[in-house]
Amino acid sequence: MVPVQTFNLLLFVIEAVIYFTVMLALLHFRKRTGLGVFLTALGGMHFLETYLAAVFYVSLPFGTVSPGSSVLFAGKLMLILLLYIKEDAETVRQPIYGLFLGNLLTVVLAFILQFHDVSGAPMSGDTVFVEEMGWLMLWGTTLLYLDSIAIILLYEKLGRYFPRRTIPRFLIAGAVLLTFDQIAFFGALHIFLGVPVEAFWGGWKAKMFSLVLYSGLYLVYRRLCEAAGPYTSSSRALSDVFGDLTFRERYQDLLERSGRDSLTGIFDRNRMEIDAPATIRACLQAGRPVSMVVLDVDHFKLVNDNFGHLQGDVVLKGLAGLLQATVRNEDKLYRFGGEEFIILLPGLDHEKAMALAERLRREVATIMATPDLAPVTISSGVATGPEDGGSFSELIASADGRLYRAKAEGRNCVRGQTVATADAGPAGA
Ligand code: GH3
Ligand code: MG
Ligand code: MG
Repeated sequence: MVPVQTFNLLLFVIEAVIYFTVMLALLHFRKRTGLGVFLTALGGMHFLETYLAAVFYVSLPFGTVSPGSSVLFAGKLMLILLLYIKEDAETVRQPIYGLFLGNLLTVVLAFILQFHDVSGAPMSGDTVFVEEMGWLMLWGTTLLYLDSIAIILLYEKLGRYFPRRTIPRFLIAGAVLLTFDQIAFFGALHIFLGVPVEAFWGGWKAKMFSLVLYSGLYLVYRRLCEAAGPYTSSSRALSDVFGDLTFRERYQDLLERSGRDSLTGIFDRNRMEIDAPATIRACLQAGRPVSMVVLDVDHFKLVNDNFGHLQGDVVLKGLAGLLQATVRNEDKLYRFGGEEFIILLPGLDHEKAMALAERLRREVATIMATPDLAPVTISSGVATGPEDGGSFSELIASADGRLYRAKAEGRNCVRGQTVATADAGPAGA
């Protein structure tokens, strides 16, 4: 004879597995069936979930537990996180707002229903109970709203530390939020319906138990989908993009891979126009200096004319590689056009930016050469905010003016705020 608690646990596991597997399947096939099928199924179980959480408790090895909260609510929150991972925040709002408004209507209608004169009717139901359930459902959905925002934010935040570890992120975010929810929802059950305190711990353990089960099922799902998916033999990056990343991460990934110059592989001018103004603003608002170097290859036309355009391209690629290898991680290198480059240096004051530009000038002149071994040289103009301006356009105008001066004063040199510094290069000496 199987002990009662073990038998209950077996049923609990069966309920959780059936619930999560079916819902995951509906989520997976949403493109074929329409997302409405998944969302309606999720909403359809809301009454059962709240009703069970209010009145139906069973004894499990770790305490007295309601499958309404431990299987259905815990599952719903994790499915909402999965919906966010697969779609975006806008889609996630739909079931949450829908549930909230549906529950609000339940309360309003239940309140009006009480005023019917039911004398002589064969059955009249318990409208007070329905109203009570309505309030509880409304409270549950308010919590769901907060839980959903928090679980998504936490999942995203964890992504900064372990970007590729979906399952641990799912598990940790779920554990934190289900704990918070247990405190908040149980508080209401305890105060308004007199649910005993022992149920708190039992409920918490049961939610953690379900979470582990759901994470396991999600892991199986990921393995199955990746094995059967069309991207199996493609690169890891592709399967990550379609299987792992949230909408925001996919967007970031795309952004990271777009806005690149096709010849040199560094960021292009479009990307600069999107990123640079924000970087400059953020630096100046934080009270940090920000510098910009505009540099141009000297007599580059001659390289093309003497050795052909292809050889010119080789020089540009080599130069971009050298510049990229020399700047700090935080610095941003952009190809502005032709053989002009811009380097944005967050946090560098004018003196340090001048020193960096000078180092680059020297390295290019020493390392880079044309096929006839003549050195390739660059000229640069440096500007620094806030002294030279507080905006992208002001800084670029200032640095460009100084580049023009560097060209006029003999090339292969750096020009900044002062006319000539001790280390301003050959032409400045
Ligand atoms: P200066 O010292 O005054 O800068 O002289 P310069 O010859 O470099 O003059 P300018 O900047 O006007 O010339 C730029 C040349 O760069 C003209 C153009 O043919 C060449 N160029 C622009 N884009 C590319 C490219 O993608 N590949 C190659 N090979 N050449 C390019
Ligand atoms: Mg040039
Ligand atoms: Mg030029």
